[in-house]
Amino acid sequence: MKKILLLLGISISLISCQKEKVDLIVSNANVYTVDADFQKAEAFAIKGGKFVAVGSSSEITKKYISDQVVDAKGQTIVPGLIDAHCHFFRFGLQQQKISLEGTKSYDEVLQKISAFVDEKGVDYVTGRGWDQNDWEVKEFPTKEKLDKLFPKIPVAVRRVDGHALLVNEAALNYSDLSETNFPKSVTGGEFITKNGKLTGVLIDKAMDYIKMPNTSTKEAIAGLMDAQQINFSYGLTTVDDAGLARKEIELIDSLQKTGDLKMRVYAMVSASQENLDYYTKKGIYKTDYLNVRSFKIYGDGALGSRGAAMKHPYSDRAGHYGALIFSPERYQEMAEQIAESEYQMNTHAIGDSANFWMLKTYQNVLKGKTDRRWRIEHAQIIDAKDFALFENVIPSIQPTHATSDMYWAGDRVGPDRIKGGYAFKKLLDTYGKVALGTDYPVEKVNPFLTFYAAVVRKDLEGYPEGGYQMENALSREETLRGMTIWAAHSNFEENEKGSIEVGKFADFVILSQNIMEVAGDQIPKTKAMSTYLNGEKVY
Ligand SMILES: [Zn+2]
Repeated sequence: MKKILLLLGISISLISCQKEKVDLIVSNANVYTVDADFQKAEAFAIKGGKFVAVGSSSEITKKYISDQVVDAKGQTIVPGLIDAHCHFFRFGLQQQKISLEGTKSYDEVLQKISAFVDEKGVDYVTGRGWDQNDWEVKEFPTKEKLDKLFPKIPVAVRRVDGHALLVNEAALNYSDLSETNFPKSVTGGEFITKNGKLTGVLIDKAMDYIKMPNTSTKEAIAGLMDAQQINFSYGLTTVDDAGLARKEIELIDSLQKTGDLKMRVYAMVSASQENLDYYTKKGIYKTDYLNVRSFKIYGDGALGSRGAAMKHPYSDRAGHYGALIFSPERYQEMAEQIAESEYQMNTHAIGDSANFWMLKTYQNVLKGKTDRRWRIEHAQIIDAKDFALFENVIPSIQPTHATSDMYWAGDRVGPDRIKGGYAFKKLLDTYGKVALGTDYPVEKVNPFLTFYAAVVRKDLEGYPEGGYQMENALSREETLRGMTIWAAHSNFEENEKGSIEVGKFADFVILSQNIMEVAGDQIPKTKAMSTYLNGEKVY
């Protein structure tokens, strides 16, 4: 009997000693978990696409076993990065257009177009960037060679400044024109001719006569796949797309369901009346990959073109205020409709007047509710007395806008108002969190440039010395939180992503260097070595 008990005891202890099998173990890493206490770890185990344990390398390897083990060799790991404001779909479509910038001759332009057609298998070619002033022969090109190379595929490529268009005969035919059949005159433009025939170069208003094919589904899918690949290569695992049409959202959902598109998308619905009616009635739509529960509204224009709505005239244009896109009454109406649903309202506001009106509208409609997480996108120029209005409103900001605009933003609004410009720290102090993004393709996709702009506030040449309005710089911890857990909060997703914690999606990035400790000027050199989504290596 004793013997049996002894044997039983041994077998029980053997079972309890047995390690649990998981899908992936990562050990010997310098992990920033970005949990509430900003704790570090060395290792984690993943099963079923989620983190099941996080701890020291010895703890994890003692308890778990896996066929797949990554020895990180001390490399830094952070949670999968989130871009809280970008234009993922539009960026993808841009990848389907050819860029001819920097071409040194017309022959190089032709070579590039040929290579592009071969690589992408496109049915037509659009794009821009050629500049005959960079060529040896500084004359406008003519279409003969284009016609020979592409007798069937319509080609229409803009000059770098957008004021001239080079087309082939196929593009003219597609537009019901030909080299001998075209309007004899056009006000505000020109059809350039030689011996009475079109040369293929159209100027300004003449360009309006060219009709190219609409974006096809095939092109949209190619765009999404290209955008995904580029985003993964920078460690991004969730993107907030700031303004999508219903059919774009439905395409993304269908591609995610077939497993072709793995990128997680927080879709802000473009707030047409049709979309407002459809989605507020439909309610929140949520999968592990797609979250549809917010609207994108435009409050005003941009500061560079003086379209941003200011309370007082621009400092560099007398009597000019910029303007709101809609009337205050219309914003109130939209906000009321959204407030009655569970949806979030995310409004583009750049100027101090647009920010004020939208914040006031939010306040009127939400009546003190603190849980709606409505956002202001950009929150660029804020009147000193309006910061307090961000108490219950999430500032969604793009640090690289500060370092892109810093050369001229002060001219637009003057030395006093610019103190409330790109005021990331002050916004953080008011709401307690900031959601960080890029607004690509306006800025670059690279999130490490966001990190650099937020912390160092200089351009890539190190200008200005000492940094731009450094009282509003963020710390590295705040910046990393803004790109992960706070961005997740701005999407109502902080319980499923944004940190390396048990129960969350196993989305993480292995970095080429420790972004939390390298010298400030080294931050832009950071690279994603590999990116994992759901515990699966996607880059
Ligand atoms: Zn945007």
